[in-house]
Amino acid sequence: MFTPATPELSGLRVLVMGLGLFGGGVGAARFLARAGAKVTVTDLKTAAQLDESVRALAGLPIEFRLGGHDERDLDACDLVLISPAVPHDNPFLLQAVKRGIPVETELNLFVKLCRAPILGITGSNGKTTTTALVEAATRRMGGPTWLPLPPGCFDRPRNVWVGGNIGRSLLPHLPEIQPNDAVVLEISSFQLENLAAIGRFPAAGVVTNLQPNHLDRHGTMEAYGEAKKNALRGPGSVGIVNGDCPVVGKWSSVPANPLTFARKAPVGRGACLAGGWISIADGGDAHPLLPAGALRIPGLFNVENALAAACAAWVLGATKDGIAEGFAAFRGVEHRLESFGTWGGVTWINDSIATNPDSTLAALRTLSQPLVLILGGHDKGLPFEDLARAVSPRCRSVVLLGAASDKIAGALESAGCTVPVDRARDLRDAVSLSAARAQRGDAVLLSPACASFDMFRNFEDRGRLFKQFAKEATAGRAEVEEMIAGAPRTATA
Ligand code: ADP
Repeated sequence: MFTPATPELSGLRVLVMGLGLFGGGVGAARFLARAGAKVTVTDLKTAAQLDESVRALAGLPIEFRLGGHDERDLDACDLVLISPAVPHDNPFLLQAVKRGIPVETELNLFVKLCRAPILGITGSNGKTTTTALVEAATRRMGGPTWLPLPPGCFDRPRNVWVGGNIGRSLLPHLPEIQPNDAVVLEISSFQLENLAAIGRFPAAGVVTNLQPNHLDRHGTMEAYGEAKKNALRGPGSVGIVNGDCPVVGKWSSVPANPLTFARKAPVGRGACLAGGWISIADGGDAHPLLPAGALRIPGLFNVENALAAACAAWVLGATKDGIAEGFAAFRGVEHRLESFGTWGGVTWINDSIATNPDSTLAALRTLSQPLVLILGGHDKGLPFEDLARAVSPRCRSVVLLGAASDKIAGALESAGCTVPVDRARDLRDAVSLSAARAQRGDAVLLSPACASFDMFRNFEDRGRLFKQFAKEATAGRAEVEEMIAGAPRTATA
């Protein structure tokens, strides 16, 4: 699709720093070039390493400076657009700052140029699921919306766009997004910090919960909480917070329009459980949407995500029937407790998204089968003690993988772990060790409690390889019961 030149960008000399292989750099460079900017792309990786991304930009008027940065590119540069992967203390970036060149992130650029009101979804856990649930719940809009639409518009958004960290950049869609649309963005705490730096905040925000996470970057829980609060700081904004969360539930600096969602207690205005039904509470009256048991995604935490999403969908202007229908049809997101097959009576579950111990603990609490648990990866500096204590009661055995193996092994030993602990050379080895340990009725669960960067491109790469290796390792068994994530169970010979 041709994107018309965006007046603010036409003729602007933009240096895109960090092309990468995940699509973000490609999307940004493509959008800028089509918007009429003069684009140079630079990356420390070589053209050969970035071949896929370079080829995706073929035919566009873009210059490449790959295999290192060249300060001469800063001489004729109006704007540096950085990938989220560029550390704030990168010397080339600091050079650009020293020269007084404006620096933007992709999300900042989007938020600056977006003409529609934005609802941001953040929190330690549940962001993607909540965002996807909001998408499902807003297919049928009835209004009215609480978001500030321009005067003269209908009282509900024309269209709801969903993107951000959920894996969909909305930058290329900017020219199509109208002032009377609404945008739902999954936003990380880092991105919220960057938005605060330019004084931009979403018109509405959801904070799903707050648990120790990313403390390697934010330092303290207070600093991390402050970053998340930026989701609620828009002038006259609507703020949706988790009343059950010991941290978020106690935030007193609330936005103009506070809504609370809670699974454990009734709420004044927001969403809660009433007689086991997910319900919207509007100043006391509870309007039931659907029974919590009708959700197809497992676990109490997903009930919380649905409650958060119900509030957000209500604020956006979805009908109550539309929310109920969307939730009932929602089958979950890939890599999140994704049961992708049962072979020889053993269910294989991909929870590669679990990059911190709390997420893995949530998985252990959610599933009921005895588990062969694959743990490990890049250590984010989080404590493994609580997880280690939970292992023996829930697991048949543990398989350790990657850079954090020694640290986790130490935590397991200190916790008095009584189940066998295997060490895997790589993921394929982890799969075969797991297959050997698992017994009929068990589940093999990849829920690593660690980031993936020590061995994989990202958690999606780790999850897809796990599924591939598991299918290869179990192929040829007499009993094969395939279950594609989300699809109904169908037994094959
Ligand atoms: P995020 O986008 O914040 O990383 P996801 O929705 O992708 O979160 O879910 C990732 C994992 O986090 C899930 O598989 C589950 O283990 C855990 N999780 C999801 N929602 C919650 C929640 N509300 N509270 C605690 N843990 C959760």
